[in-house]
Amino acid sequence: MIHLQRREMMFGLAGVALAHSMLGRVGMAMAADKIKPGPSSALIVVDVQNCFLPGGSLAVKDGDQVIPVINRIAKDFDNVVMTQDWHTAHHISFASTHDGKKPFEVIKLPYGNQVLWPDHCVQGTDGASIAQNINIPHAQLIIRKGFHNDVDSYSAFLEADKETRTGLASYLKERKIDTVFVTGLATDFCVAWTAMDARNAGLNVYVVEDACRGIDINGSIAKAWEDMTKLGVKRIQSSDIA
Ligand SMILES: [Zn+2]
Repeated sequence: MIHLQRREMMFGLAGVALAHSMLGRVGMAMAADKIKPGPSSALIVVDVQNCFLPGGSLAVKDGDQVIPVINRIAKDFDNVVMTQDWHTAHHISFASTHDGKKPFEVIKLPYGNQVLWPDHCVQGTDGASIAQNINIPHAQLIIRKGFHNDVDSYSAFLEADKETRTGLASYLKERKIDTVFVTGLATDFCVAWTAMDARNAGLNVYVVEDACRGIDINGSIAKAWEDMTKLGVKRIQSSDIA
């Protein structure tokens, strides 16, 4: 019995060696160019919720197009975290909460400038649900953010007051995850702030461009890429992932 297992193991190793030699230089070079997420990598799927999809109250243009890309690459990850914008009914980030204010105006709050948004992702509503077509049954954590009435939270790590933490950095650290791949909506707000705070938490960070879509207020997508790049966030495409 033991002998048989040893023989099988030896044949197995020989098989691997043969496959490598058959693949040759081209095969190995192709493999080397791809980024392979390992056990210490996590995919972060940011806010792919009904309100941010076409037809939603804060629709991101072509936001639904990220879904098949995210579903496809999620298969390459052992670890997946999803985020959910999760606001109170009269959240401070809603224009409707402030007399005479319209969506996309900017106001000053104690923690800094706040863009005012149409009502979106109210706790427990259909709009706040994660898109039905997201198919990642092996996702392990859904982290909700923006649930404090008086503070917004674009980032999955740190609320807009830059003090209140969501706990995600500690969760990733405890699970020995040192690299994250960020996807979702919207590139210039929740994705960018999540990616930058991940860098600030000491993680290696990739943003998968074709798995994200942006809102783009006065060039905010270009500015977000500039800010992310300065912090060492790497910009990749889904085809770069093995
Ligand atoms: Zn929000």
